[in-house]
Amino acid sequence: MKYLIFLFLFLLPQTDPYKVRREQMVKNQIEARGIANRDILEAMRKVPRHLLVPEDQREYAYEDRPLPIGDGQTISQPYIVAYMTDLIAPKKYMKVLEIGTGSGYQAAVLAEMVEEVYTIEIVENLGKRAKKDLDNLGYTNINCRIGDGYQGWKENSPFDAIIVTAAAEKVPQPLIEQLKEGGKMVIPVGPQGKVQDLLLLEKSKGQIKTTNLGPVRFVPFTRK
Ligand code: SAH
Repeated sequence: MKYLIFLFLFLLPQTDPYKVRREQMVKNQIEARGIANRDILEAMRKVPRHLLVPEDQREYAYEDRPLPIGDGQTISQPYIVAYMTDLIAPKKYMKVLEIGTGSGYQAAVLAEMVEEVYTIEIVENLGKRAKKDLDNLGYTNINCRIGDGYQGWKENSPFDAIIVTAAAEKVPQPLIEQLKEGGKMVIPVGPQGKVQDLLLLEKSKGQIKTTNLGPVRFVPFTRK
């Protein structure tokens, strides 16, 4: 009998205690707000957000808000990640640049959907920690760099899409140059410490079309 109980316990599916919360997050915060792209919903059901935040924040990882990740920075609210990801319409073949690695969460969500992700973080501590966490999670298509994202990542340009997750006073010219023809960039632009505008830029025949998607609040884009 004792052995049978052991066997039963052993065969119980190894459940991830955060899985239920993650599924609720996707249903109540993402799907309910109109994100219909199945690949995004699937990616967000998969990426263990709780393993990319500091240990004392794990408990809150699936709540509907940004969280502190140290060094005065934050991981964005899940919906903002879904919304920005949706705006670039990710496809399997794409090469995407992210400015502001932070926790690495946005990079991981992208990595589930596109071929290659390049991500730059200016705060060394954060960049190192994100790289370690993303490596531990087994991501092999995320390339991390520590530095000022203002200059982009020229050697690997042009990119199909660029996501900037810190608020800039204006759109960095090098990023515009590193965007592929037909490519899209999402970036919060405006005065630091205040409300900014989320802009969608699309490059077509060398021209940039800009759409203002309304107010957002991001941590500042800093310079070295
Ligand atoms: N995408 C992140 C959000 C992090 S918040 C996530 O999923 O967790 C924005 C990040 O941008 C911060 O970590 C901040 O340090 C970084 N940042 C600010 N200015 C930057 C710059 N010029 N180059 C690269 N990263 C920058």
